[in-house]
Amino acid sequence: MDCNRCGEEAVMHAAYSGQHLCADHFRESVEKRVRRRIRRDDLVPQDATPENPETWVIGLSGGKDSVVLTKILHDTFAEDPRIELVGLTIHEGIDGYRDKSVDACVALTERLSIHHEVVGYEEEFGIRMDDVVEDDPENMAACAYCGVFRRDVLSRYADDLEADLLLTGHNLDDEAQTALMNFLEGDVEQIAKHFDASLGPLSEREEQDEFVPRAKPLRDVPEKEVALYAHVEDLPAHITECPHASEAYRGEIQQLLYELEENHPGTRHSIIAGYEELASIATEEYSGDDGVDLQECTQCGSTTTREICRKCSLLESLAE
Ligand code: SF4
Ligand SMILES: [Zn+2]
Ligand SMILES: [Zn+2]
Repeated sequence: MDCNRCGEEAVMHAAYSGQHLCADHFRESVEKRVRRRIRRDDLVPQDATPENPETWVIGLSGGKDSVVLTKILHDTFAEDPRIELVGLTIHEGIDGYRDKSVDACVALTERLSIHHEVVGYEEEFGIRMDDVVEDDPENMAACAYCGVFRRDVLSRYADDLEADLLLTGHNLDDEAQTALMNFLEGDVEQIAKHFDASLGPLSEREEQDEFVPRAKPLRDVPEKEVALYAHVEDLPAHITECPHASEAYRGEIQQLLYELEENHPGTRHSIIAGYEELASIATEEYSGDDGVDLQECTQCGSTTTREICRKCSLLESLAE
C-alpha cells in the first residue's frame, strides 16, 4: 500500500482513521498528536519565561512509551528556554529486568543530552522488589507494594528537583483500559480524582497543593504506534515485561479492548473522549469536598490521610 500523503510505501495502516502512512508521515502524525495534546492540556503556562523556566520531570522507565515521550519532548522543547527536561528513572531491584532498561535510559539521555537521575528502592528504602515478592508479608500483588514505593520516590524527587510537572508515557491503550476499569468499578469519585491528577487542561483542574501535577501527552497515540515510532526512530527501548507484573484484571480489560477495537475501530478513542468529558463534570461535582484530612506522617513527614503513611507501614511489616 502507498502512503496517503506522498505515495511512498506505507509502514502503517490505522483502521480507526483509515490512513496508510509512510515512515516520515507516520512520524509526523505521532509528533503532531503529542504537540496538540500539550497545547490542549495547557501544559506550558503563560508565565513561563526563559528567566523563570518550568522544570518537567519525565518518568523514564526505559520501556517504549517513556522513551518515545522523552524523544518527542526533547525535539519539541530543546530550543525552548522556557522548559527544562529531567529524566527520572526508578530502579526497583528486579533482576534481569531493570538493569537493561536503566541502560536504555542512560543511552537515550546521553544521546539527547538530557539531565538524568536514577533512584533505587535499595538506596531509598533498603529493599529490593525481588525480596519483597519473596517475603510478601501483607499477602498482596507485587505491583501493590511497588506502586506505593514508586509514588513516594516520584513525589519526593519531584520536590527535590523543583518539578512543575511530572510527565508519564501512558498511551491510548493504557488510558482506555484505566477508563474502562474505573467505569466498571462504578467509582465516580475515583474518576474525578483521575481528572484532577493527570487529565484535562491544567487550568481546569482542581488545585492540589501537596502534589505536583501530572500529564500524559502520549495518550492519543495507540500502543502499537508508540512501538512502531520507537522502531522507526531506532530508539533504545527495552521491551521485556516485568517478571512480577500481576494486574490480572487489567489483562482481561486489555483483551476485551483488543477485540472491541478489532470489530469496531475507534473504540479506544471514543472511550477516552467520553471518559474525559465525564471526568471533567465529575470533578466539578466533587470539587472542594474531598472529605479527607491530610496530615504529616509521624515517621517520614510525607502527606498522608493517616498517622503513619502507607509506605512507612509497608516498610515496617517488611522489616519484621
Ligand atoms: S509490573 Fe508491578 S512489580 Fe513490576 S515494576 Fe511495574 S509495578 Fe513494579
Ligand atoms: Zn508519506
Ligand atoms: Zn511515612
